[in-house]
Amino acid sequence: MLSEKVTKLVAGGPMTGTAFTELRIPVTKTSGGFLAFEEDDVAARPITACIRCGRCVSVRPAMLVPQILATNAAYGEFDKFEKLHGMECVECGCCSYVCPAYRPLAQNMKLGKQAVAAARRAAAAKK
Ligand code: SF4
Ligand code: SF4
Repeated sequence: MLSEKVTKLVAGGPMTGTAFTELRIPVTKTSGGFLAFEEDDVAARPITACIRCGRCVSVRPAMLVPQILATNAAYGEFDKFEKLHGMECVECGCCSYVCPAYRPLAQNMKLGKQAVAAARRAAAAKK
């Protein structure tokens, strides 16, 4: 039974998990683990402009440049995202974790990967 104090649920771990927008969700056989929070610290943080500190670049396991790729994805520049190897992102969440501007870098990386994968599937279906 979920405590009434819980305001946010995340499926998976703290770095790569996915937050739910709704607390009433089904638990299935593929459900791994859930994190339950009484306060939404992430939503309370204001997203500000990139200050070019380079922290996201210093932690990258896939040798990518998250601040540029995430911006490409956010602006729908998926051709640039793909050309700069955005599909190599392993979705570890490290870039978002260290960003002092609280920019949603990993979220935008996921968005870019999904868009490129969908475009590739559509192109393959036409052949
Ligand atoms: S989420 Fe992707 S872009 Fe960000 S640090 Fe991990 S591998 Fe790099
Ligand atoms: S960590 Fe955040 S503020 Fe620093 S360069 Fe990367 S995106 Fe910009």
